Amino acid sequence: VSSVSTASARAGAEALRRALDGRHGEVRERAREALDDPQFAAPLGVSLDERRAIANGQVRAVAAARLATYALPSAYGGADDVGAAINSLEVVAYCDLSIYAKCGVHFMLVRGSIQYLGTEKHHERYLRQIASYELPGCAAMTEIGHGSNLMQMRTTATYDRDSQEFVITTPDADARKDFIGNAARDARIAVAFARLVVDGTDHGVHALVVPIRDEQGRLAAGVTVEDCGEKLGLNGVDNGRITFDELRVPRDALLDRYAQVSADGVYTSEIASPSQRFFTMIGILISGRVSVAGASISIAKSALTIAIRYALHRRQFGPAGREEELLLDYRTHQRRLLPALATTYALSFAQHRLVDELDRAFTDPDYGDADRRRFEARAAALKVAASWHAVAVIQECREACGGAGYMSVNGLAALKADADPFTTFEGDNNVLLQVVAKSLLADAAQVDELDPLGTLAYAVEGLYATLLERPAARALEILADQLAAARDDDSVVRDREFQLALLRWREEHLIATLAERMKRGVEAGTDAYTVFKDCQDHGAVLARAYIDRSVLEAFDDAVDACGDSVVTSTLETVCDLYALWTIERDRGWYLEHGRMSPSRSRTVRRAVTRLCAEVRDQADALVDAFGIPDAVITAPIARQ
Ligand SMILES: Cc1cc2nc3c(=O)[nH]c(=O)nc-3n(C[C@H](O)[C@H](O)[C@H](O)COP(=O)(O)OP(=O)(O)OC[C@H]3O[C@@H](n4cnc5c(N)ncnc54)[C@H](O)[C@@H]3O)c2cc1C
Repeated sequence: VSSVSTASARAGAEALRRALDGRHGEVRERAREALDDPQFAAPLGVSLDERRAIANGQVRAVAAARLATYALPSAYGGADDVGAAINSLEVVAYCDLSIYAKCGVHFMLVRGSIQYLGTEKHHERYLRQIASYELPGCAAMTEIGHGSNLMQMRTTATYDRDSQEFVITTPDADARKDFIGNAARDARIAVAFARLVVDGTDHGVHALVVPIRDEQGRLAAGVTVEDCGEKLGLNGVDNGRITFDELRVPRDALLDRYAQVSADGVYTSEIASPSQRFFTMIGILISGRVSVAGASISIAKSALTIAIRYALHRRQFGPAGREEELLLDYRTHQRRLLPALATTYALSFAQHRLVDELDRAFTDPDYGDADRRRFEARAAALKVAASWHAVAVIQECREACGGAGYMSVNGLAALKADADPFTTFEGDNNVLLQVVAKSLLADAAQVDELDPLGTLAYAVEGLYATLLERPAARALEILADQLAAARDDDSVVRDREFQLALLRWREEHLIATLAERMKRGVEAGTDAYTVFKDCQDHGAVLARAYIDRSVLEAFDDAVDACGDSVVTSTLETVCDLYALWTIERDRGWYLEHGRMSPSRSRTVRRAVTRLCAEVRDQADALVDAFGIPDAVITAPIARQ
């Protein structure tokens, strides 16, 4: 009997894995096989120098196995498939996270800048060596003085007509490039972002490929690199601080797809507005942010795999004279880990949808500016949701494993330290929430402007009136029916229409009231920037409401699209748990706004508890379905 049930559990996990892997299942399987090797696990007890050398070797191995090159054009050894690249890197993120971080910089940011911002000459010169990692690179955007506000960076690339070169200069200490991954030790080239100055005119931020080290690792003349040293985590990554002292590079170092400088110093660009040009060029690198969202979800999967497997064999307390209870049979333990597991599933399906949209952004000739702005907001939203989820889940998992969770050998300590900066790089989460809120305002006001302040000014003008004409009528109807329903049992709250109606209504309400506050501010004579700043907290709550709604929609669609009836039924339960736990978390808000009666709120709470018990029975298969290679889950507590 036991071998039959083991076999059926395995079959269940495999079917779930196929559903969870989505259309890039083969790519993910290939990566799993290649990475199922102890050399990719996080090393313990090694010095900083060794740690970096190991990580560099691991990246070489990833490159040799061709796990990070899918996005390259086929002419350069790739598959023209950015979605496959992101999926493959999600599996890399199950390994030591320094490998993922170094790969992210080199294969997403450096490769992406050269491929999308450069032209054929740059592709010919660099892409093959980028693919093989023979020419490791770094992406130098952030400066000490300007991190989130990249548009105000101050490094300059000034054109010298006589020599037909750009002169790259760090004007002062505040403009040094900071935190740059791969810069302190390994990178030989940098994609340097700098203000392009031609004949005294500042054309705004552009990207150039500049040499920083030769084959022997000697720094180029005009380049100084300081080592950022040991960090809270990700210590396999060599972050550095770069200063350019009149570094001279040829004219064709400029990545010139969107802007060109002729030999005699004439600047041209198909994009007239400097701010639009900036957002187009930075926006094209969005695949890096999408990748960080996916990697964050992988991190949550690693932590949950350790904590749930432990909770399925660790026993504490129990009735006198009988075997002690498994941790996962305790209700509090279920409530700590299983809504997090459900959220991880929800985010995985939302990530698939985002990756599909990314593919469309790269391939659909009709993909316009408004589509792009909307997509950027979606990518920002998921990056925020996934990275905050990962950080919170790791802490809960660490505590859920008690003292064992604190021991480095069990993996959670490294995850905790390494996952932390995912909330900061590729866009600070709190800053990204503002990007989401602005895009939602622009959508509601039906403006397509990319410049955020411009968008805002338009939005404030027409928004309130637009929204008044567009109450979330359907959502309100459903909610009114539901509130009127005499019954308060699980079937009412497990109705997906009810769950979606609540989340949609919250988002619509928050956007309408935000517009109203902004309108009042503008009417009182305050400028749009200050008005938005005064409503920043409101915008952040709106962005989070948008995340909750869009993630549930993605999960719901995935459940509908799943062809296997057993898997569908499991996913239905997991989706209910995600939806009702999300509603339970904000039940104060719904009660405050008269959208849920106190008795309905209690029904939601009871349903979450019951759903946790249902999901508990499948918890083993649900984590097995993540398909983390055995060789990189080295935690003894994760082995039964
Ligand atoms: C491990 C690591 C690796 C990195 N690798 C690279 C790399 O390879 N290349 C690269 O170019 N950069 C890299 N970075 C830099 C990273 O992208 C920046 O740290 C990030 O963009 C945030 O910038 P900042 O650190 O200057 O923070 P700031 O922009 O100064 O933000 C500090 C705080 O202020 C808040 N804040 C900022 N503006 C606002 C606002 N308008 N309203 C409200 N709150 C606000 C933020 O939410 C944040 O909490 C890396 C960073 C780390 C930690």
